[in-house]
Amino acid sequence: MSQTAQTVREDGIISSVSGPVVTARDLDARMNDVVYVGDEGLMGEVIEIEGDTTTIQVYEETSGISPGEPVESTGEPLSVDLGPGLLDTIYDGVQRPLDVLEDKMGSPYLDRGVDAPGIELDKEWEFEPEVEEGDVVETGDVVGIVEETITIDHKVMVPPDYEGGEVVAVESGSFTVDETVVELDNGEEVQMRQEWPVREARPTVEKKTPRTPLVSGQRILDGLFPIAKGGTAAIPGPFGSGKTVTQHQLAKYADADIIIYVGCGERGNEMTEVIDDFPELEDPSTGNPLMARTSLIANTSNMPVAARESCVYTGITIAEFYRDMGYDVALMADSTSRWAEAMREISSRLEEMPGEEGYPAYLAARLSQFYERAGYFENVNGTEGSVSAIGAVSPPGGDFSEPVTQNTLRIVKTFWALDADLAERRHFPSINWNESYSLYKDQLDPWFQDEVADDWPEKRQWAVDVLDEETELQEIVQLVGKDALPEDQQLTLEVARYLREAYLQQNAFHPVDTYCPPEKTYLMLTTIQTFNDEAFDALEAGVPVDEIIDIDAAPNINRIGVQEDYEEYVDELKSEITEQLRSLY
Ligand code: ADP
Repeated sequence: MSQTAQTVREDGIISSVSGPVVTARDLDARMNDVVYVGDEGLMGEVIEIEGDTTTIQVYEETSGISPGEPVESTGEPLSVDLGPGLLDTIYDGVQRPLDVLEDKMGSPYLDRGVDAPGIELDKEWEFEPEVEEGDVVETGDVVGIVEETITIDHKVMVPPDYEGGEVVAVESGSFTVDETVVELDNGEEVQMRQEWPVREARPTVEKKTPRTPLVSGQRILDGLFPIAKGGTAAIPGPFGSGKTVTQHQLAKYADADIIIYVGCGERGNEMTEVIDDFPELEDPSTGNPLMARTSLIANTSNMPVAARESCVYTGITIAEFYRDMGYDVALMADSTSRWAEAMREISSRLEEMPGEEGYPAYLAARLSQFYERAGYFENVNGTEGSVSAIGAVSPPGGDFSEPVTQNTLRIVKTFWALDADLAERRHFPSINWNESYSLYKDQLDPWFQDEVADDWPEKRQWAVDVLDEETELQEIVQLVGKDALPEDQQLTLEVARYLREAYLQQNAFHPVDTYCPPEKTYLMLTTIQTFNDEAFDALEAGVPVDEIIDIDAAPNINRIGVQEDYEEYVDELKSEITEQLRSLY
C-alpha cells in the first residue's frame, strides 16, 4: 500500500465510532481518500461525505479509539504499490506483506496503525534496459526487464499517467524500486515502482473476444464447461462441496502465467492451509516453485471486515498490472460471499436502506464492476494479456436462490455448480453436470480442434447427450427399477456410468489423476465411446446386455485417469474392449 502522504491536509476530529465505521467532523478530504484515524493512526478510507461529516471505513480493529481523537487525510485514494516483488509474497487485504502469516494467526492483525510498503523498498533488482537513448516511448511501453522470480520476467513499463517522450538517459544495473532507471526529455522519470488506485481499472485499448481456453487440467472443466483466458467463472457450493479444492486445483494447474489468489473472509485455518500448501508446490509446467508465479492475498474471517471489502480490489489491480505486461493472469477469489457480507456489514453500519436479505442495493453493481475488470485485452503498449476471474460463492445452506449467487449468475459466463449430494456420494469434483454451463464453449472449440482433435466438439456433445439421457432414464429407474428397462437403455446407463466414474470424477489427491492434459481428457472420452459403439454392435448382434457389461476389459476404463503413460494404455484398452466384445458374437 502506498505510503506517500504527499499533501498534508487539515485534521478532522472523530465524532463517532461504530465497529469499522467512523465518522469525523471538519476533515478536509475527498471520496475514497485514505485517512489515518485516531491517535494510533489506523488506516481507513473515506466512503461518504455529507456536509462537514465524513464517513470512513477503517481497515483495522477500532476498539479503543474514541470521539475527539484526530483524523488525518493523505489526500490520496487507496492505492497499491506495483513493481517487482509482488510475486512470491503474501499480503493482507490492504497489501501489507504478511511474512509469517502463521504467527499472525495467533494475533491476527498486524500491529495497528502499521503501514507497510507493498513491495520491498530497499531490495535491489537487476534492471536490463530494453530501450536506448533517443528511443521514443509512450505510456505503457516496456523500458526494461527485471527477473522477478525464476519463472517471471517483470516488465518495467512507463506508468499509465505519464505522457511519454524521448529517452534521454537509461541505466542498467542494480536498482531499488524507487531509483530512476529511465529519464525522458519531458522530465518524466521512470522507476520500477508504480502506484495505482485499487478501485479504478487500469487503462487498456480494447477488450477482445477471448478465444483461448484457460486449460485447467480438470476433465469436467476443460471437457464440458471450459473457461476462456480472460473469462469469468463462479463456483457456488455449500460447505464441504469442494470449492476450495477446486480453486486450489486451478491455482496449481491452470495454464496462466500469473496466479493471484485472494482468500477473502474464509476461516483462518483454511487460509493457513493455502499458505502452508502453496510454497511447497511445484509448477507442473516448469518444475519451479508455484509461488514464483503467485501472489496471495489473505484476509481471513478474523481480520477486520473493511479490509475484506478492499481485498478483491487489491487483487484485481495486481492482476491488471501483470496483464499490462502481456501475461495471462488468473485471479481466484475465495469467497465472494464473504466479500459481499463485508459490504453488507458496512452498509448496515451506515444505516443505508437494505436491499434483498440485507445486502446493499449496490451489491449487483459491485459484483459486476469486479467481474468487468476481467477480460482478454489489447494493452496500451500493444501487447495482449488477460485477466480471468474465478469467484467461489458460498450460499448459506447451499441455496442458490440467495442474492449473491443470483447476482453473480447474471454476470459470469461460466458456472460450475457444486452439489452437496454428489459430494456426499464422494463423487469429486462434485460439479453438477446438469446445472453447470459455459458460454465460452463455442468460441473455444476452434482452439481445441487445432490443438487436440478435430472432433472435440462432437465428442463433447456425445458425452452431454448420454449424460442427459441418463438423467431421464434415472427417473424411470427410480420408479420401476433398472431391470424393467429395455436392454439398449440399460446399456446406455452403463456407458453413462463410465462417463461419470472415469471421465467426470477426478481425484485431486492422486499424483497422476490430479492433472489431466486435454489430450488425455479427449482419449478417455474416445475410449468410452469405443466401448459404447462396440457394445451396441454386440447388442444388435443379439448378445445379452449382461454379457456385454461383464467383459473383463471394461472396468479398466476407470483406471485411465491414474495412468501416466496413458496413450499406450488407452490404445491397448481400446483393442481389448473391441476384441472381447466381438468375441461374444
Ligand atoms: P468447501 O470449500 O466447499 O467447503 P472443500 O473444497 O474443502 O469444500 O472440500 C471438502 C472435501 O471434499 C475435501 O477436503 C476433500 O476431501 C473432498 N474433495 C473435494 N474436491 C475433491 C476432489 N476433486 N478430489 C478429491 N477429493 C475432493
